[in-house]
Amino acid sequence: MLERLIGAGMNVARLNFSHGDFDGHAEVISRLRSAASSLGRRVAIMADLPGPKMRLGEIAPEPVMIEAGAGLILTNEDIVGDAHRISMSFEALPRVVKPGDRLFLNDGLLQIAVERVAGNDTYCRVLVGGELRSRKGLNIPGIELGISAFTDHDRECLRFALAHGVDAVSQSFVESAADIETLREAAREMGGTPFIIAKIERARAVERFAEILAATDGVMIARGDLGVEIPIEEIAVQQKRLIARANLAGKPVITATQMLESMTHTRLPTRAETTDVANAILDGTDCVMLSGESAMGKFPEEAVAMLGRIAACTEANRCGDFLAQQRLRLSKPATGTELVSQFVEAAVRTAQFDALVVPTHSGATARMTARFRLPEWIIAFTTHPETAQNLCFSSGVLSIALPAYPEEWTPTVQTTLEQLGMSARRVLLITGPSEQRPDANRRIELLDFSHTQSG
Ligand code: PEP
Repeated sequence: MLERLIGAGMNVARLNFSHGDFDGHAEVISRLRSAASSLGRRVAIMADLPGPKMRLGEIAPEPVMIEAGAGLILTNEDIVGDAHRISMSFEALPRVVKPGDRLFLNDGLLQIAVERVAGNDTYCRVLVGGELRSRKGLNIPGIELGISAFTDHDRECLRFALAHGVDAVSQSFVESAADIETLREAAREMGGTPFIIAKIERARAVERFAEILAATDGVMIARGDLGVEIPIEEIAVQQKRLIARANLAGKPVITATQMLESMTHTRLPTRAETTDVANAILDGTDCVMLSGESAMGKFPEEAVAMLGRIAACTEANRCGDFLAQQRLRLSKPATGTELVSQFVEAAVRTAQFDALVVPTHSGATARMTARFRLPEWIIAFTTHPETAQNLCFSSGVLSIALPAYPEEWTPTVQTTLEQLGMSARRVLLITGPSEQRPDANRRIELLDFSHTQSG
């Protein structure tokens, strides 16, 4: 199945450490690597750290029906729960809540209000009832929880993930730049430098998005928890705002959760879901992500293929002047990389090219150019295998790892394009300082293969 998912277009695989165990994840990592290598495809692996997600404990027999108007006790005691008293994982709950606070269960489907606290027990009244199963999520929006986004369990997961050579790590329930720095520092102490994706799923993360964006390598709009932590009707506008800001910064952005939810059970998505995926792409998202659809659904391959079909159609029909691009043109370039990316964008808007070729060290030039969502592929050559992997997160970029940069780019570009089956005649080559030539000037050159055989 992993081979089929890769064949259908998957180029980043997320391992959700909220589920499964280390042995299982190790098995998946090794199968992913062999599937990718047997297909000759590049696939990045992202370890998703659970963070301080609050969950209910065991309930038996399950499901239980929680009736509106009834009393419900959440307790710190380790019990098997029923419709009246259920254990939960957040030990500080009785200390941080007060009467009147609203708590949300099971992704906000159930709502309860705190009435009083006694010892380990938080007494609540059910406002919106429903069915409840073991280990469902508990959200307390807007309350300062006094907990770090990087837990002891996350540290164990990170150690495991780095030891198994994952490319990227996503951090759940990020609230500040300090959370990202804590994770980066912990990884450094363990000898790793993973690409870090900040999951935006708290109201505070939306408020502090500027500092989080500056500290992180990429972001995920984690609409599942975000839709409980902020009013659900705000998700669409926040998604658009956050994507536009990530685009401006040239940092990849993932749009996640319920993208093709109905495909967990049915072969075709709803019209609303296909439109949602297309809209995320039109907003400027780099990645569209599946969760339950591919993790436990009946049609994982069909769901990945469906994302690919929607993306191909939407990208081909993308209006050339969407808002983010307007803002990019207006923004004053602060760095040489930004300036060059703006020249490239201007060149591509005024003349026809078949591909853009960008030798890149950290991936910054490729990402800065990719943020314009140009119609041409960006072929990113790098001597750093980890950069090649991390560029899987950037829309429109195809990365190629080389042992060393060539003296002359033309033959390398020509051979690569032939190998990729691209009949490119006019190619823009964007070069700049590199490790081999730190003093080189930034250059944008036209490679014209019109008169060669391959052209
Ligand atoms: C989300 O909440 O939308 C999300 C992606 O996080 P997770 O799937 O880890 O709950």
